[in-house]
Amino acid sequence: MKKDYSSILSTLFILGLLGFIYVTMMPQWTPNEDEPLSEFSTDRAFEKVQAIAQKPHFVGSKNHDLVANYLVNELKQLGLETSVQEGYTLSDWGNLAKSKNILARIKGTDNSKALLLLTHYDSAPHSYSPGASDAGSGIATILEGVRAFLYSKTPHKNDIIILFSDAEELGLNGAALFVTQHQWAKDIGLVLNFEARGSAGPSYMLMETNKGNAELVKEFASAKTTFPVSNSLMYSIYKMLPNDTDLTVFREQGNIQGYNFAFIDDHFNYHTAQDNIQHLNKSTLAHQGKYLMPLLNYFSNADLNNTQASEDYVYFTIPYTFIHYPFSWVFPMTLVALILLIILIFLGKGKRLISFREIGKGFIPLLSSLFASGLITFIGWKLLLLIYPQYNDLLNGFTYNGHSYIAAFVLLSIAIAFAFYNRFSFKKTTMNHFVPPLLIWILINGFFANSLEGAGFLIIPVYFGIFAFAAFVFTQKSNWIFNLICSIPTLFIIAPFIQMFPIGLGLKVLFGSAILTVLAFGLILPVFGAFQRKAIWSLLFFGAALGFFVKAHSESGYEFGKAKSNSLLYVYNANNNTANWITYDTNLDSWTKTYLGENPKTAPAINDTPLFSKYNSGFTYVANAPKKAIQKPTIEFVYDKIIGSQRYLHIRISPNRKVNRYDIFATENMVIHNFKANGAAALGQKGSKYERNGKKLLSYYVVGNEPLEIQFSIAKKSILDMELLESSFDLMTNPLFEMAKRENWMMPTPFVLNDAVVIKQKIKPGQKTVVSKLINPILKDSLTVAKDSLKPKQ
Ligand SMILES: [Zn+2]
Repeated sequence: MKKDYSSILSTLFILGLLGFIYVTMMPQWTPNEDEPLSEFSTDRAFEKVQAIAQKPHFVGSKNHDLVANYLVNELKQLGLETSVQEGYTLSDWGNLAKSKNILARIKGTDNSKALLLLTHYDSAPHSYSPGASDAGSGIATILEGVRAFLYSKTPHKNDIIILFSDAEELGLNGAALFVTQHQWAKDIGLVLNFEARGSAGPSYMLMETNKGNAELVKEFASAKTTFPVSNSLMYSIYKMLPNDTDLTVFREQGNIQGYNFAFIDDHFNYHTAQDNIQHLNKSTLAHQGKYLMPLLNYFSNADLNNTQASEDYVYFTIPYTFIHYPFSWVFPMTLVALILLIILIFLGKGKRLISFREIGKGFIPLLSSLFASGLITFIGWKLLLLIYPQYNDLLNGFTYNGHSYIAAFVLLSIAIAFAFYNRFSFKKTTMNHFVPPLLIWILINGFFANSLEGAGFLIIPVYFGIFAFAAFVFTQKSNWIFNLICSIPTLFIIAPFIQMFPIGLGLKVLFGSAILTVLAFGLILPVFGAFQRKAIWSLLFFGAALGFFVKAHSESGYEFGKAKSNSLLYVYNANNNTANWITYDTNLDSWTKTYLGENPKTAPAINDTPLFSKYNSGFTYVANAPKKAIQKPTIEFVYDKIIGSQRYLHIRISPNRKVNRYDIFATENMVIHNFKANGAAALGQKGSKYERNGKKLLSYYVVGNEPLEIQFSIAKKSILDMELLESSFDLMTNPLFEMAKRENWMMPTPFVLNDAVVIKQKIKPGQKTVVSKLINPILKDSLTVAKDSLKPKQ
């Protein structure tokens, strides 16, 4: 049997091309200390990250003030006049915080709309995150970019406003404060927002629009960034989900649109103590700079009055290139593909190259491998979660060895596809068997054309498949080199999604990658189907998959830098004078067991005050704890009076120790009106009723130990049933507790209240009631709120 060189060459070509796509998706950083001052330097930007990310700097911490001062100084050193905006906002999910926004404005030559450069400087609370990526990288990108821009004395018509927003991590409070209360907000025509949801990988451009994206797409194309990575499928999905970036507040509250630039890989570091400078990928940081510079140059001179559009565009990127066209092309493109395919089938049938019988048989290997790879991956991942229970420890659903699992299951899926095509398909029938994948892809695109038009660009690789099929029908033979060329769009456009889905959505969607792998395999069937020894290729891919499973196994443990997350709270219940240790963990370790013991009780009863957490984590285990002399807060009913059918209340809760957070709960039977917390009404509230989810009234993140003042009214007959949790984030340093240090392979669980000393207490009158003799201030306030709510919204 002669050697099958074409299949070896094809495989090498495909691997080489995938490598090229991977490497050219983003800039590859190399040290360069001599970057001219007129250019963006990643090394200089990195130094800024180092300065910001020395320590956790969440709202209310001492380091938060230090970082704020550092930023004011940095802006001053750029020769900019800086200002600070401070105030309370109560945002969407009842999160109250006093934010301190840091601002600067660079005058342009025209009196035109301004460009806003936006990122946030607070780091995530609860988990000791130094915030190097999130969003130190954004701050550094803007500081270094603006420095280079000013150094070059780039002429610009538009004003450029810099906003380092605060309290993003708590509830986008700083952005809300700016949009609703700062006089500059109405000047802004466009926002560039820099964000992070991991610590590595390419940065994705994600548009935020109220209506259509057409103008934003065209403008982005005109700005000519060198490493664009984005696509309208992400845009369409993003639009369907509830989003929460600072830019969302701009869009919803101010009708101001813009672009987010966010990197999402290495999600396991997000909001953890590992979001530090060691983990921030410098190529990723370089990528942020590669976006900012051309966009700053372009948008500081573009007309920013025309960013609104009603039409939507499809867009996608291939290395160095941003391609776009209107949504209205999506359906015709799909229809034309279908018509072309049908014509070609009948032409081929006329020439006796194609038979319906063989086409029908071609569905067997395709559907079998789709079903098998999807099912095996789905069950496989569930099994792995049983074999390695520690994979459940990381709440974000992407394990430290997650990339190895992606590789393993993708290779396994290719092995499965080769095995089925080896059994059911032969080289001489390949082009007949190519019809089913083409049909399925057209069907999928037809579905997208109807319901997810942003995915419309997925028809393009199908066209190239049709070209390969057409060449076969017209020339009556299959040319492997032409087939290989026709496979390039599949590799460019579809292959990156195979990796992106589980990175973006977690390893639970690995089966989606497996299915997409087989679908992509089908679309380049003219290449793979022509391989002579598919059984051997199947074994090869199976072996490679096995290799990655072994690699994943060898990396399945914890170590420094890939730490296990764990959680512990000390909760003193002042209502019944008891104290407990509580955790959210399902797998206890040596550290948590020090406090919870070997056999702690499960903790359903504690969950009656559900604390908000990103993944709805409930408490798992509880154990008795010693009682400590912790100062309870002072609860004052400053005002409590019935007027007509309503009871008006003003409650002040003042801490008697250094605290960081208050969570206030009220039974769902209490319908609350005219609600204000520290003077702030809920953002975007319509009418006087305070909308809330479940029992939670609000979470207040304390700055400077300022008391919480809540004012509201309830029906006279309503029973006042409220409770508070007062937390200080100092469990590990509080002198009342001598806590053991975590091992170096452990870190605090992010997204949940953690390492805190908590007091749980009913809020009732009688503790200290001061009835004001003066004019009822709440009544006055509530009347103003009621009046405000009648005004049309701007
Ligand atoms: Zn962030």
